[in-house]
Amino acid sequence: MRRKAIVLLSGGLDSMLAARLMQDQGIDVEGVNFYTGFCIENHTQAIRGQNRGRRHQALWVADRLGIPLHIVDISEAYKKILLEPRYGYGTALNPCLDCKIFMVQQAALFLEKADTVAQEQAADFIVTGEVIGQRMKSQLKRTMPIIARESGVHDRLLRPLCAQLLEPTLPERLGWVDRNKLYGFNGRSRQPQIELARSLGLEEWAQPAGGCCFLTDPHYARKLSDLWQSRGQRDYSLDDALLLKVGRHLRPRPHFKMIIPREEGENRFLEGFRHRFLSLQSLEHPGPLALVDGALNPEDQYLAARILARYSQGRNENTLRVGFFDTKKSLALTLDVIPLPANEVEESWHVGR
Ligand code: SF4
Repeated sequence: MRRKAIVLLSGGLDSMLAARLMQDQGIDVEGVNFYTGFCIENHTQAIRGQNRGRRHQALWVADRLGIPLHIVDISEAYKKILLEPRYGYGTALNPCLDCKIFMVQQAALFLEKADTVAQEQAADFIVTGEVIGQRMKSQLKRTMPIIARESGVHDRLLRPLCAQLLEPTLPERLGWVDRNKLYGFNGRSRQPQIELARSLGLEEWAQPAGGCCFLTDPHYARKLSDLWQSRGQRDYSLDDALLLKVGRHLRPRPHFKMIIPREEGENRFLEGFRHRFLSLQSLEHPGPLALVDGALNPEDQYLAARILARYSQGRNENTLRVGFFDTKKSLALTLDVIPLPANEVEESWHVGR
């Protein structure tokens, strides 16, 4: 009887190798990829111009391996994980250990299909590409059993890249997979995985710059903390999570923040949010728009217009005409302002870049 594994496929090398090792042992493999709202991949594809045209990495990996991929949106349920992580955060606002437990738990729903769907559609075990010692918090030898236990998956969770350093799991004990053909990788070096990939004939894999998740990014974490502080509560919507990925976020005064795009793709993306925010734009020169989150008094309006003018192509003019648009995109106010010199944009205004 052929056995089936569900592999948590991030799109990176490790999970790709884990899936491939299972295939090489005659296991049927399906991938699952989770969308939390904080994935870098979706952002870079959708917004940043330089990555346009690139494929979704997990889809690309699944295609290379010839396996089906389930892309599952867990963004709503993920809120609780991010807002109340039982095991706390990593170096930024990344609740990695809780996140891993949750994802394995979600993947386990594919095991439970045995009770509800035709038996042959159910998976027998879960596979991840975790390597002991690769991440400070979630991938330590002592935390691996926590993930297995708290996800409820227990010994149906197999990590082929470091299995030889862990207790044998059910698939190993029952002979579904040969433990001798698994690995004992340990540590932060990527070299063993790269060598394994080459030995398997894999020449191409994703090397996502800056990891796969914005929650590990200190700039992003600062923007998220600032959002919570300004609202007086720790909560967010999916739109909030997306907006924090885009543009420079400047808070010149505690009661308002400006979001100013850094390039054309971001400008187009922010256009889609003008129905929710007051927006500013230079009326005479090309340049970015700015969204304003918060209420502006006349003094704030003048300051916001000067800041926007500083990022427009008319920044060297003596004065610049800036338009304020309401949420129906109607021109509500026009101000002629002196663009703010670069040295007057205070460092403390930058919530995150
Ligand atoms: S980096 Fe992000 S997606 Fe990955 S385990 Fe940590 S919180 Fe989860």
